[in-house]
Amino acid sequence: MSTPDEQDLYELLSIPRTATKAEIKKAYHRAALTSHPDKVPSEQREEADLKFKAISRAYEILSDDDTRHLYDEHGMAAFEKGGGMNGGGGPGGPDLDDILAQMFGGMGGMPGMGGGMGGGDGMGGGGARRKGGKGRNEVQPYEVTLEELYKGKTTRFASTKKVVCATCRGTGGKEKAKSKPCDSCKGRGQTTRIRPVGPGLVTQETVPCATCSGKGSFYADKDKCKKCKGARTVSQKKILELYIPPGSKQGDRIVLAGEADQDPDDSEPGDIVFEVVEEPHKVFHRAGADLQADLEIGLVEALTGFNRVVLRHLDGRGIQLHVEQPAGKVLRPDEILRIRGEGMPVKRSDSRGDLYLTVRVTFPEDGWLRDPAAVERVRDVLPKAEGARFGVGETPEMVDEVEFEAVENLEGFGAGSDDPRAGAEWEDEDGEAGGQGAQCAQQ
Ligand SMILES: [Zn+2]
Ligand SMILES: [Zn+2]
Repeated sequence: MSTPDEQDLYELLSIPRTATKAEIKKAYHRAALTSHPDKVPSEQREEADLKFKAISRAYEILSDDDTRHLYDEHGMAAFEKGGGMNGGGGPGGPDLDDILAQMFGGMGGMPGMGGGMGGGDGMGGGGARRKGGKGRNEVQPYEVTLEELYKGKTTRFASTKKVVCATCRGTGGKEKAKSKPCDSCKGRGQTTRIRPVGPGLVTQETVPCATCSGKGSFYADKDKCKKCKGARTVSQKKILELYIPPGSKQGDRIVLAGEADQDPDDSEPGDIVFEVVEEPHKVFHRAGADLQADLEIGLVEALTGFNRVVLRHLDGRGIQLHVEQPAGKVLRPDEILRIRGEGMPVKRSDSRGDLYLTVRVTFPEDGWLRDPAAVERVRDVLPKAEGARFGVGETPEMVDEVEFEAVENLEGFGAGSDDPRAGAEWEDEDGEAGGQGAQCAQQ
Protein backbone atom coordinates (compact mmCIF):
# COMPACT_ATOMS: atom_id res chain seq x y z
CA MET A 1 0.00 0.00 0.00
CA SER A 2 3.01 2.29 0.24
CA THR A 3 3.29 2.99 -3.49
CA PRO A 4 -0.19 4.42 -4.00
CA ASP A 5 0.26 6.42 -0.82
CA GLU A 6 3.14 8.29 -2.35
CA GLN A 7 1.00 9.55 -5.16
CA ASP A 8 -0.52 12.98 -4.76
CA LEU A 9 -4.05 12.59 -3.46
CA TYR A 10 -5.45 15.28 -5.74
CA GLU A 11 -3.86 13.60 -8.76
CA LEU A 12 -5.22 10.28 -7.65
CA LEU A 13 -8.74 11.67 -7.81
CA SER A 14 -7.91 13.81 -10.87
CA ILE A 15 -8.99 17.06 -9.27
CA PRO A 16 -7.32 20.46 -8.79
CA ARG A 17 -6.06 21.45 -5.34
CA THR A 18 -8.82 24.02 -5.19
CA ALA A 19 -11.59 21.47 -5.64
CA THR A 20 -14.72 22.00 -3.57
CA LYS A 21 -16.17 19.34 -1.33
CA ALA A 22 -18.81 18.50 -3.89
CA GLU A 23 -16.18 18.13 -6.61
CA ILE A 24 -14.12 15.84 -4.40
CA LYS A 25 -17.12 13.67 -3.72
CA LYS A 26 -18.05 13.48 -7.39
CA ALA A 27 -14.47 12.60 -8.35
CA TYR A 28 -14.38 9.90 -5.72
CA HIS A 29 -17.60 8.28 -6.95
CA ARG A 30 -16.32 8.34 -10.51
CA ALA A 31 -12.96 6.83 -9.55
CA ALA A 32 -14.49 4.27 -7.21
CA LEU A 33 -16.91 3.13 -9.87
CA THR A 34 -14.18 2.37 -12.40
CA SER A 35 -11.79 0.73 -10.00
CA HIS A 36 -14.04 -1.14 -7.60
CA PRO A 37 -12.56 -4.62 -7.16
CA ASP A 38 -15.93 -6.22 -7.83
CA LYS A 39 -16.01 -4.65 -11.30
CA VAL A 40 -12.80 -6.12 -12.70
CA PRO A 41 -11.79 -9.63 -13.81
CA SER A 42 -10.35 -11.68 -10.96
CA GLU A 43 -6.76 -11.61 -12.26
CA GLN A 44 -6.74 -7.81 -11.96
CA ARG A 45 -8.41 -7.81 -8.61
CA GLU A 46 -5.37 -7.38 -6.44
CA GLU A 47 -4.22 -4.31 -8.34
CA ALA A 48 -7.73 -2.91 -8.41
CA ASP A 49 -8.02 -3.53 -4.71
CA LEU A 50 -4.92 -1.43 -4.02
CA LYS A 51 -6.10 1.33 -6.32
CA PHE A 52 -9.51 1.29 -4.74
CA LYS A 53 -8.06 1.50 -1.28
CA ALA A 54 -5.83 4.39 -2.29
CA ILE A 55 -8.77 6.25 -3.81
CA SER A 56 -10.83 5.60 -0.72
CA ARG A 57 -8.09 6.87 1.48
CA ALA A 58 -7.61 9.97 -0.65
CA TYR A 59 -11.29 10.72 -0.39
CA GLU A 60 -11.29 10.06 3.33
CA ILE A 61 -8.52 12.56 3.88
CA LEU A 62 -9.68 15.22 1.44
CA SER A 63 -13.37 15.08 2.31
CA ASP A 64 -12.71 16.20 5.84
CA ASP A 65 -11.62 19.80 6.38
CA ASP A 66 -9.26 18.99 9.23
CA THR A 67 -7.46 16.11 7.62
CA ARG A 68 -7.38 17.92 4.27
CA HIS A 69 -5.70 20.84 5.95
CA LEU A 70 -3.18 18.49 7.57
CA TYR A 71 -2.46 16.88 4.21
CA ASP A 72 -2.08 20.24 2.44
CA GLU A 73 0.41 21.39 5.05
CA HIS A 74 2.42 18.24 5.63
CA GLY A 75 1.57 15.69 2.98
CA MET A 76 1.21 12.04 3.84
CA ALA A 77 3.82 12.41 6.58
CA ALA A 78 0.99 13.63 8.78
CA PHE A 79 -0.71 10.27 8.43
CA GLU A 80 2.17 7.81 8.61
CA LYS A 81 1.86 5.32 11.37
CA GLY A 82 3.87 6.32 14.43
CA GLY A 83 5.09 9.42 12.62
CA GLY A 84 3.24 11.89 14.74
CA MET A 85 3.70 15.55 14.10
CA ASN A 86 5.51 17.86 16.37
CA GLY A 87 4.00 21.25 16.68
CA GLY A 88 7.29 22.75 17.82
CA GLY A 89 9.61 24.45 15.36
CA GLY A 90 9.12 25.49 11.78
CA PRO A 91 7.16 28.30 10.24
CA GLY A 92 3.97 26.25 10.24
CA GLY A 93 4.05 25.91 14.02
CA PRO A 94 1.33 28.23 15.27
CA ASP A 95 -0.93 27.27 12.43
CA LEU A 96 -0.61 23.61 13.31
CA ASP A 97 -1.44 24.33 16.90
CA ASP A 98 -4.64 25.90 15.69
CA ILE A 99 -5.53 22.78 13.77
CA LEU A 100 -4.82 20.60 16.74
CA ALA A 101 -6.84 22.80 19.05
CA GLN A 102 -9.64 22.61 16.54
CA MET A 103 -9.40 18.85 16.41
CA PHE A 104 -9.16 18.34 20.13
CA GLY A 105 -12.05 20.68 20.73
CA GLY A 106 -14.31 19.46 18.00
CA MET A 107 -13.86 15.75 17.95
CA GLY A 108 -17.56 15.19 17.63
CA GLY A 109 -17.33 16.22 14.01
CA MET A 110 -14.91 13.51 13.10
CA PRO A 111 -16.23 10.04 12.51
CA GLY A 112 -14.97 7.50 14.97
CA MET A 113 -13.47 9.96 17.36
CA GLY A 114 -14.51 10.81 20.81
CA GLY A 115 -17.07 8.08 21.09
CA GLY A 116 -15.00 5.87 23.31
CA MET A 117 -14.27 2.35 22.25
CA GLY A 118 -16.42 0.92 19.53
CA GLY A 119 -16.60 -2.71 20.33
CA GLY A 120 -14.49 -5.29 22.05
CA ASP A 121 -11.76 -4.58 19.56
CA GLY A 122 -10.68 -1.41 21.26
CA MET A 123 -8.41 -3.33 23.54
CA GLY A 124 -4.87 -4.31 22.80
CA GLY A 125 -3.74 -1.24 20.96
CA GLY A 126 -5.45 -0.08 17.90
CA GLY A 127 -3.93 -1.96 14.96
CA ALA A 128 -5.90 -3.53 12.16
CA ARG A 129 -7.48 -6.73 13.34
CA ARG A 130 -6.21 -9.81 11.64
CA LYS A 131 -8.88 -11.92 10.05
CA GLY A 132 -9.51 -15.59 9.70
CA GLY A 133 -7.67 -16.84 12.77
CA LYS A 134 -8.94 -17.61 16.21
CA GLY A 135 -10.83 -14.78 17.85
CA ARG A 136 -9.40 -12.53 20.47
CA ASN A 137 -9.32 -13.82 24.02
CA GLU A 138 -11.09 -11.80 26.68
CA VAL A 139 -8.91 -11.59 29.75
CA GLN A 140 -10.63 -10.45 32.94
CA PRO A 141 -9.20 -10.07 36.40
CA TYR A 142 -11.08 -12.11 38.98
CA GLU A 143 -10.75 -11.24 42.65
CA VAL A 144 -10.67 -14.17 44.99
CA THR A 145 -10.24 -14.28 48.77
CA LEU A 146 -7.55 -16.40 50.37
CA GLU A 147 -10.29 -18.49 51.95
CA GLU A 148 -11.66 -19.28 48.50
CA LEU A 149 -8.22 -20.13 47.17
CA TYR A 150 -7.70 -22.44 50.16
CA LYS A 151 -10.95 -24.31 49.75
CA GLY A 152 -11.45 -23.96 46.02
CA LYS A 153 -14.46 -22.27 44.47
CA THR A 154 -17.08 -22.91 41.86
CA THR A 155 -19.16 -20.04 40.51
CA ARG A 156 -21.84 -19.91 37.91
CA PHE A 157 -22.58 -16.74 36.05
CA ALA A 158 -24.72 -15.69 33.14
CA SER A 159 -22.74 -14.63 30.12
CA THR A 160 -24.15 -12.86 27.10
CA LYS A 161 -22.00 -13.47 24.09
CA LYS A 162 -22.23 -12.87 20.39
CA VAL A 163 -22.52 -15.93 18.22
CA VAL A 164 -22.58 -16.13 14.45
CA CYS A 165 -26.17 -15.83 13.20
CA ALA A 166 -27.36 -19.27 12.19
CA THR A 167 -30.00 -17.98 9.77
CA CYS A 168 -27.58 -16.16 7.44
CA ARG A 169 -24.48 -18.09 8.55
CA GLY A 170 -22.80 -14.80 9.36
CA THR A 171 -23.26 -13.00 6.05
CA GLY A 172 -25.85 -10.59 7.42
CA GLY A 173 -27.95 -10.80 4.26
CA LYS A 174 -30.91 -12.75 2.99
CA GLU A 175 -30.19 -15.74 0.83
CA LYS A 176 -29.12 -14.73 -2.69
CA ALA A 177 -29.09 -11.02 -1.79
CA LYS A 178 -26.04 -9.07 -2.95
CA SER A 179 -24.12 -6.76 -0.66
CA LYS A 180 -23.04 -3.25 -1.58
CA PRO A 181 -19.73 -1.62 -0.77
CA CYS A 182 -19.80 0.33 2.47
CA ASP A 183 -19.83 4.11 2.09
CA SER A 184 -18.32 4.97 5.45
CA CYS A 185 -15.12 3.02 4.90
CA LYS A 186 -15.30 2.99 1.11
CA GLY A 187 -15.20 -0.77 1.12
CA ARG A 188 -11.98 -1.06 3.03
CA GLY A 189 -13.57 -2.48 6.11
CA GLN A 190 -11.36 -0.20 8.13
CA THR A 191 -11.33 3.45 8.90
CA THR A 192 -8.43 5.52 10.03
CA ARG A 193 -8.72 8.08 12.71
CA ILE A 194 -6.42 10.72 14.04
CA ARG A 195 -5.79 10.26 17.69
CA PRO A 196 -3.97 12.77 19.92
CA VAL A 197 -1.14 11.05 21.77
CA GLY A 198 0.37 14.01 23.54
CA PRO A 199 0.67 17.78 23.40
CA GLY A 200 1.05 18.70 19.75
CA LEU A 201 1.27 15.07 18.67
CA VAL A 202 -1.22 13.01 16.76
CA THR A 203 -1.06 9.52 15.44
CA GLN A 204 -3.16 7.75 12.90
CA GLU A 205 -4.68 4.45 13.79
CA THR A 206 -6.70 1.94 11.87
CA VAL A 207 -9.92 0.66 13.38
CA PRO A 208 -12.58 -1.66 12.00
CA CYS A 209 -15.39 0.25 10.31
CA ALA A 210 -18.39 0.53 12.60
CA THR A 211 -20.94 0.82 9.80
CA CYS A 212 -20.13 -2.48 8.09
CA SER A 213 -18.51 -4.16 11.10
CA GLY A 214 -15.25 -4.37 9.21
CA LYS A 215 -16.65 -6.32 6.29
CA GLY A 216 -16.30 -3.57 3.72
CA SER A 217 -19.79 -4.08 2.41
CA PHE A 218 -23.30 -4.36 3.75
CA TYR A 219 -26.80 -5.22 2.70
CA ALA A 220 -29.55 -2.77 1.90
CA ASP A 221 -32.29 -2.76 4.54
CA LYS A 222 -34.61 -4.93 2.46
CA ASP A 223 -31.86 -7.50 1.90
CA LYS A 224 -30.82 -7.77 5.52
CA CYS A 225 -31.12 -11.07 7.35
CA LYS A 226 -34.33 -10.98 9.39
CA LYS A 227 -32.84 -12.73 12.38
CA CYS A 228 -29.73 -10.61 13.00
CA LYS A 229 -30.84 -7.51 11.05
CA GLY A 230 -27.57 -7.51 9.16
CA ALA A 231 -25.40 -7.59 12.26
CA ARG A 232 -24.13 -11.08 11.31
CA THR A 233 -24.18 -12.13 14.92
CA VAL A 234 -26.87 -12.57 17.55
CA SER A 235 -26.66 -12.40 21.33
CA GLN A 236 -26.83 -15.63 23.21
CA LYS A 237 -27.25 -16.10 26.94
CA LYS A 238 -25.38 -18.91 28.54
CA ILE A 239 -24.66 -20.06 32.07
CA LEU A 240 -20.95 -20.56 32.50
CA GLU A 241 -19.23 -22.35 35.32
CA LEU A 242 -15.94 -21.19 36.68
CA TYR A 243 -13.94 -23.57 38.83
CA ILE A 244 -10.99 -22.36 40.86
CA PRO A 245 -9.11 -25.34 42.24
CA PRO A 246 -7.79 -25.26 45.84
CA GLY A 247 -4.28 -23.85 45.96
CA SER A 248 -4.73 -21.48 43.00
CA LYS A 249 -2.70 -18.32 43.30
CA GLN A 250 -2.26 -14.78 42.05
CA GLY A 251 -1.86 -14.71 38.26
CA ASP A 252 -3.26 -18.20 37.64
CA ARG A 253 -5.46 -18.31 34.57
CA ILE A 254 -8.72 -20.16 34.25
CA VAL A 255 -9.65 -20.60 30.62
CA LEU A 256 -13.22 -21.00 29.41
CA ALA A 257 -12.36 -22.19 25.92
CA GLY A 258 -14.34 -20.72 23.06
CA GLU A 259 -16.66 -18.68 25.27
CA ALA A 260 -15.66 -15.21 24.06
CA ASP A 261 -17.68 -13.30 21.47
CA GLN A 262 -17.77 -15.00 18.11
CA ASP A 263 -16.80 -13.04 15.02
CA PRO A 264 -17.96 -14.31 11.60
CA ASP A 265 -14.49 -13.55 10.21
CA ASP A 266 -12.72 -15.72 12.75
CA SER A 267 -12.34 -19.45 12.31
CA GLU A 268 -13.25 -20.01 15.96
CA PRO A 269 -14.18 -17.79 18.87
CA GLY A 270 -11.60 -16.76 21.44
CA ASP A 271 -11.56 -17.81 25.06
CA ILE A 272 -12.74 -16.07 28.18
CA VAL A 273 -9.75 -16.06 30.46
CA PHE A 274 -10.01 -15.23 34.14
CA GLU A 275 -6.86 -14.15 35.85
CA VAL A 276 -6.81 -14.76 39.58
CA VAL A 277 -6.27 -11.67 41.70
CA GLU A 278 -5.60 -12.60 45.30
CA GLU A 279 -7.24 -10.26 47.76
CA PRO A 280 -4.98 -9.28 50.65
CA HIS A 281 -5.88 -11.08 53.89
CA LYS A 282 -6.09 -9.54 57.33
CA VAL A 283 -4.46 -12.43 59.15
CA PHE A 284 -2.49 -14.55 56.68
CA HIS A 285 0.31 -13.68 54.32
CA ARG A 286 1.09 -16.08 51.54
CA ALA A 287 4.25 -17.04 49.68
CA GLY A 288 3.92 -20.00 47.34
CA ALA A 289 2.15 -22.69 49.33
CA ASP A 290 3.30 -21.36 52.70
CA LEU A 291 1.34 -19.11 55.02
CA GLN A 292 2.47 -16.73 57.71
CA ALA A 293 0.48 -15.27 60.58
CA ASP A 294 1.18 -13.61 63.90
CA LEU A 295 0.83 -15.59 67.13
CA GLU A 296 -0.36 -13.10 69.71
CA ILE A 297 0.20 -14.20 73.27
CA GLY A 298 0.37 -12.49 76.65
CA LEU A 299 3.51 -12.19 78.71
CA VAL A 300 2.25 -14.76 81.17
CA GLU A 301 1.60 -17.20 78.32
CA ALA A 302 5.04 -16.57 76.89
CA LEU A 303 6.57 -17.45 80.25
CA THR A 304 4.31 -20.16 81.61
CA GLY A 305 2.74 -21.78 78.58
CA PHE A 306 -0.85 -22.26 77.45
CA ASN A 307 -3.20 -24.68 75.76
CA ARG A 308 -5.73 -22.85 73.61
CA VAL A 309 -6.99 -22.02 70.16
CA VAL A 310 -4.64 -19.36 68.82
CA LEU A 311 -5.92 -18.92 65.28
CA ARG A 312 -8.86 -19.52 63.02
CA HIS A 313 -7.62 -21.14 59.82
CA LEU A 314 -8.86 -20.32 56.31
CA ASP A 315 -11.35 -23.20 56.35
CA GLY A 316 -12.77 -22.05 59.69
CA ARG A 317 -10.95 -24.63 61.83
CA GLY A 318 -9.46 -23.48 65.11
CA ILE A 319 -5.73 -24.10 65.42
CA GLN A 320 -4.86 -25.12 68.95
CA LEU A 321 -1.38 -24.88 70.40
CA HIS A 322 -0.25 -26.63 73.55
CA VAL A 323 2.83 -25.20 75.23
CA GLU A 324 3.15 -26.69 78.69
CA GLN A 325 5.13 -25.68 81.74
CA PRO A 326 7.09 -26.78 83.70
CA ALA A 327 10.08 -27.69 81.57
CA GLY A 328 8.23 -26.25 78.61
CA LYS A 329 9.36 -23.73 76.10
CA VAL A 330 9.49 -19.99 76.76
CA LEU A 331 8.21 -18.09 73.72
CA ARG A 332 10.17 -14.95 72.88
CA PRO A 333 9.14 -11.92 70.82
CA ASP A 334 9.69 -12.43 67.05
CA GLU A 335 10.41 -16.10 67.48
CA ILE A 336 9.09 -18.21 64.58
CA LEU A 337 7.14 -21.44 64.94
CA ARG A 338 6.66 -23.65 61.92
CA ILE A 339 3.63 -25.92 61.70
CA ARG A 340 4.11 -28.40 58.92
CA GLY A 341 1.26 -29.14 56.55
CA GLU A 342 -0.94 -26.24 57.70
CA GLY A 343 -0.14 -23.97 54.74
CA MET A 344 -2.08 -23.72 51.47
CA PRO A 345 -3.00 -26.82 49.51
CA VAL A 346 -0.82 -27.45 46.48
CA LYS A 347 -2.91 -27.44 43.30
CA ARG A 348 -3.76 -30.89 41.98
CA SER A 349 -1.89 -32.70 44.76
CA ASP A 350 -2.38 -33.85 48.32
CA SER A 351 0.54 -31.95 49.72
CA ARG A 352 0.33 -28.72 51.62
CA GLY A 353 2.67 -25.92 52.51
CA ASP A 354 3.64 -24.93 56.02
CA LEU A 355 2.28 -22.34 58.41
CA TYR A 356 4.79 -19.97 59.99
CA LEU A 357 3.73 -18.24 63.19
CA THR A 358 5.60 -15.16 64.36
CA VAL A 359 5.43 -14.74 68.13
CA ARG A 360 4.11 -11.35 69.26
CA VAL A 361 4.19 -10.92 73.02
CA THR A 362 1.74 -8.49 74.57
CA PHE A 363 3.25 -6.94 77.66
CA PRO A 364 1.02 -5.81 80.56
CA GLU A 365 -0.27 -2.24 80.71
CA ASP A 366 1.65 0.36 82.63
CA GLY A 367 0.85 0.22 86.34
CA TRP A 368 -0.47 -3.36 86.27
CA LEU A 369 1.44 -4.20 89.43
CA ARG A 370 0.44 -1.81 92.23
CA ASP A 371 0.67 -3.94 95.34
CA PRO A 372 4.27 -3.83 96.70
CA ALA A 373 3.85 -7.34 98.04
CA ALA A 374 2.89 -8.57 94.61
CA VAL A 375 5.97 -6.86 93.17
CA GLU A 376 8.01 -8.88 95.62
CA ARG A 377 6.27 -12.11 94.61
CA VAL A 378 6.93 -11.48 90.91
CA ARG A 379 10.55 -10.79 91.72
CA ASP A 380 10.77 -13.99 93.66
CA VAL A 381 9.23 -16.06 90.91
CA LEU A 382 11.00 -14.66 87.85
CA PRO A 383 14.63 -15.52 87.20
CA LYS A 384 17.11 -13.12 88.77
CA ALA A 385 17.87 -10.13 86.55
CA GLU A 386 20.86 -11.26 84.55
CA GLY A 387 20.20 -8.48 82.16
CA ALA A 388 22.63 -6.10 83.85
CA ARG A 389 24.99 -5.02 81.16
CA PHE A 390 27.96 -4.76 83.45
CA GLY A 391 29.62 -7.93 84.55
CA VAL A 392 29.48 -8.97 88.20
CA GLY A 393 32.06 -7.16 90.31
CA GLU A 394 32.74 -4.51 87.74
CA THR A 395 31.56 -1.28 89.32
CA PRO A 396 32.39 2.04 87.66
CA GLU A 397 33.92 4.67 89.91
CA MET A 398 31.30 7.24 89.14
CA VAL A 399 27.57 6.53 88.68
CA ASP A 400 24.77 8.89 87.63
CA GLU A 401 21.15 8.02 88.10
CA VAL A 402 19.26 9.44 85.12
CA GLU A 403 15.71 10.38 84.15
CA PHE A 404 14.04 8.78 81.14
CA GLU A 405 10.98 9.17 78.98
CA ALA A 406 9.51 6.49 76.78
CA VAL A 407 9.30 7.37 73.11
CA GLU A 408 7.49 5.65 70.23
CA ASN A 409 10.44 4.94 68.02
CA LEU A 410 13.91 6.01 66.92
CA GLU A 411 12.72 8.77 64.60
CA GLY A 412 14.30 11.42 66.78
CA PHE A 413 17.67 9.67 66.68
CA GLY A 414 19.97 11.97 64.71
CA ALA A 415 16.96 13.91 63.44
CA GLY A 416 17.89 17.15 61.69
CA SER A 417 21.38 15.93 60.84
CA ASP A 418 22.27 14.77 57.37
CA ASP A 419 23.91 11.70 58.84
CA PRO A 420 22.70 8.65 56.86
CA ARG A 421 22.69 6.63 60.08
CA ALA A 422 19.94 8.80 61.55
CA GLY A 423 16.47 7.71 62.64
CA ALA A 424 14.61 5.69 60.08
CA GLU A 425 17.58 3.45 59.33
CA TRP A 426 17.10 1.84 62.69
CA GLU A 427 13.41 1.26 62.52
CA ASP A 428 12.00 -2.20 62.45
CA GLU A 429 10.84 -3.00 58.96
CA ASP A 430 7.20 -3.68 59.72
CA GLY A 431 7.13 -1.16 62.52
CA GLU A 432 5.10 -3.40 64.80
CA ALA A 433 7.63 -5.09 67.00
CA GLY A 434 10.04 -2.19 67.07
CA GLY A 435 9.20 -0.86 70.48
CA GLN A 436 9.51 -3.96 72.58
CA GLY A 437 13.26 -4.49 72.57
CA ALA A 438 13.89 -0.87 73.46
CA GLN A 439 11.38 -0.91 76.30
CA CYS A 440 12.95 -4.00 77.85
CA ALA A 441 16.37 -2.46 77.84
CA GLN A 442 15.17 0.55 79.75
CA GLN A 443 13.62 -1.22 82.68
ZN1 LIG B 1 -28.42 -13.27 10.18
ZN1 LIG C 1 -17.59 0.13 6.31
